[in-house]
Amino acid sequence: MSGNEAWKAFTLPEPSPAADERFMREAMALAREAAAEGEVPVGAVVVRAGEIVGRGRNRRERDKTALAHAELEAIEDACRTLGGWRLWQCVLYVTLEPCPMCAGAAINARIPRVVYGASDPKAGSCGSLVNLFSLPYNHHPAVTSGVLGEECAALLREFFRSLRPR
Ligand SMILES: [Zn+2]
Repeated sequence: MSGNEAWKAFTLPEPSPAADERFMREAMALAREAAAEGEVPVGAVVVRAGEIVGRGRNRRERDKTALAHAELEAIEDACRTLGGWRLWQCVLYVTLEPCPMCAGAAINARIPRVVYGASDPKAGSCGSLVNLFSLPYNHHPAVTSGVLGEECAALLREFFRSLRPR
């Protein structure tokens, strides 16, 4: 079977709420690791056939770069694990709605489905400010929003509250 035929023959596993919550909890664990190091708590995992193949978390402070978002690290990790840049069999789970950079990365990586927790009214680009996945790019990931959304939002609230002087 050529690569093109393999693409056509492949179907993602049916979305399952239980699996979505399980992988969102993995992303939340990474978000907590970020918070423990003083980073805004955002975590992400890339899953292929029920298995985590990429992990990432926000590292902007440590790496001193605006590009160190959780999703980019998870996508990079998955590409390394799978030995290629096309993540067309993978689902991206992230605790916060992707920004335009990360939504763009999901499109570029050909990720067919993105699942996020909390909405982001300031930068969310999968439905909040704009929905990049509905624009006529060459690839349109499906989106599931609000998976453990309240718990993911609480992680962020707690973090910012802890920064405020008492
Ligand atoms: Zn981002």
